[in-house]
Amino acid sequence: MTLRSLKQIIPALETSDGAGVRIKRSIGQQQNIRLDPFLMLDEFGSAEAADYIAGFPWHPHRGFETVTYMIEGHMLHEDHLGNRGDLRNGGVQWMTAGRGIIHSEMPQQEEGVMRGFQLWLNLPAAEKMTEAGYRDIQPEEIPEIVFAGGKVKLIAGTVEIDGQLHEGSVADRSTQPIYADIHLESAASVTLPVPESHNAMLYLYEGTASLADRALQRSAANILGANGDQIALTAGESGARLLLIAGKPIGEPVVQYGPFVMNTREEIEQTLRDYRDGRLTA
Ligand code: MN
Repeated sequence: MTLRSLKQIIPALETSDGAGVRIKRSIGQQQNIRLDPFLMLDEFGSAEAADYIAGFPWHPHRGFETVTYMIEGHMLHEDHLGNRGDLRNGGVQWMTAGRGIIHSEMPQQEEGVMRGFQLWLNLPAAEKMTEAGYRDIQPEEIPEIVFAGGKVKLIAGTVEIDGQLHEGSVADRSTQPIYADIHLESAASVTLPVPESHNAMLYLYEGTASLADRALQRSAANILGANGDQIALTAGESGARLLLIAGKPIGEPVVQYGPFVMNTREEIEQTLRDYRDGRLTA
């Protein structure tokens, strides 16, 4: 057992996306700031309707997956096939854009807090042109593992806690992603396994916490070093809430043009032609 250490901190930058939704973007703020297989991580959180009300009207995607984790709020998802999905407090939408999706993600509230995350997970070349699909994961379907001093909501992947193996809601992706929302009480500690094969980051979004003896930065991608197979977390006095996001790197070239992520420039050009000609989702 070796503990993984903190390698690099990428503070999130305030920006806006969609029709004017205020977000904090860490991974993905520039095209060379990624953590294979992850392309982007956005945090949204505001009690001001003006920061989120414009939402994300109709737009396309190809070549990867988006994972939206709603901590608080209500969004409606609709796509070109007529699929509709409600995303509410604590729920997750796991969307495989595959060869193509055209969708909208719109707030269903005119006041109150909207808070959550959207993660972009790349697909290997062999899976980029698969059929589009969704999993709407209700909050009660997400395994919650309680331990002394805290709990883990396991959205994806397999994690061993106190000698017991737990499987998250999503456990069938080829990059074997681990997506865990970790809640720690005041001064509580936990040790969790993270396979050495995985790139990994911690995203602290509430309170304070340290990894081994290094303080984690809030609203930042705290990237872990490559060596080691465990993480040791300790919360500060006010407790902590943080995401552990880890996955097996794909190791292929990434060519991104906005909402399209392929392996080559030619594939992006083909994607743009397909979109123009109405064949993106065909
Ligand atoms: Mn989208």
